[in-house]
Amino acid sequence: MKIENLLRPNIRKLVPYSSARSEYSGRDVLYLDANESPFNNGVNRYPDPYQTELKAAIAEDRGVRPDQLFIGNGSDETLDLLFRAFCEPGKDNIIATPPTYGMYKVLADINGVEYREAPLNEDFSLNVKSVLNQIDENTKLIFICSPNNPTGNCLEKEKIEFIAEFFTGILVIDEAYIDFSEKESFSKGLVKGVQLFVNQTLSKSNSGAGLRVGVGIANPEIIAVLNRIKPPYNINTLAQVEALKLVKDKAKFNENLAEILAEKQRLFKGLNALTIVSKIYPSDANFWLVKFENANGVYEALKQEGIIVRNRSKELHCENCLRITIGSKTENDTLLEQLIKMDQKTTK
Ligand SMILES: *Cc1c(COP(=O)(O)O)cnc(C)c1O
Repeated sequence: MKIENLLRPNIRKLVPYSSARSEYSGRDVLYLDANESPFNNGVNRYPDPYQTELKAAIAEDRGVRPDQLFIGNGSDETLDLLFRAFCEPGKDNIIATPPTYGMYKVLADINGVEYREAPLNEDFSLNVKSVLNQIDENTKLIFICSPNNPTGNCLEKEKIEFIAEFFTGILVIDEAYIDFSEKESFSKGLVKGVQLFVNQTLSKSNSGAGLRVGVGIANPEIIAVLNRIKPPYNINTLAQVEALKLVKDKAKFNENLAEILAEKQRLFKGLNALTIVSKIYPSDANFWLVKFENANGVYEALKQEGIIVRNRSKELHCENCLRITIGSKTENDTLLEQLIKMDQKTTK
């Protein structure tokens, strides 16, 4: 289906705000058009509304073209804009596959859009039939999170492609954790004609959660829609400057990534040796989902020691599960030390 036909009617008709910097962005001129202050302190000017320099760097890094990129104020903004562009409140619906990232439901609720669930199987694999069963003519977005949060596993490529063949809306693949995985990003397959929207972020592998820089990768037609409806200056100057540094410092990125992956294996061995741990789920991300004999007890005891993990035991198929982020070597040592103590107490 054409993007134009998927859009909400009000967005189709929208005349976007035209900012001063999008009307004129040449260099070496006197800018007296935006009512800015003339006193140069590094932030007295409005930021580049289309983040040209940052997009060029990310495009090179990710092997895509700049016109396939959208930068959001965190993925939160990017995903919210997808709802606002394509989902008519009170009419349209979206599908997600719990247990998964909680923001999809929150964004659906905020936007007055029906949230449909197609639960993963108990082994956290994708249930294609259940996804297909939920699709109707008002389904605009399907969210597939891979590697999935909070379970950690990648969902099967063949199954995702099978769903894509049947679906005429936009298939959102959330790849916030893709850099920790050896699986290939879906951004490489954007050309195939399916309406894919790949969501990535500088928040995890790029060590930039505080900057709020989300990276959307899609065909230029979808990107153009988001550009029309985004707040004009959605990425502030400081975030653009710091994000550019993070993206360009490939050596540091690789070094950090290698350390997290090594620590992840070390943490696995430590956790695996504990009797209070009953299962560690396979993970392609920077965390482990760990099943304990008594997750709430472990969660509270760790909290007492000032160690906060994520209690996911109320999520579907996640009884007694805690999600544990891979920290630095010292942080992981501290965690393991406390868990070993608890282990000795309970096995005595
Ligand atoms: C952490 C995370 C994000 C990143 O969100 P930002 O707003 O970019 O920080 C997106 N999706 C999933 C599944 C995540 O776990």
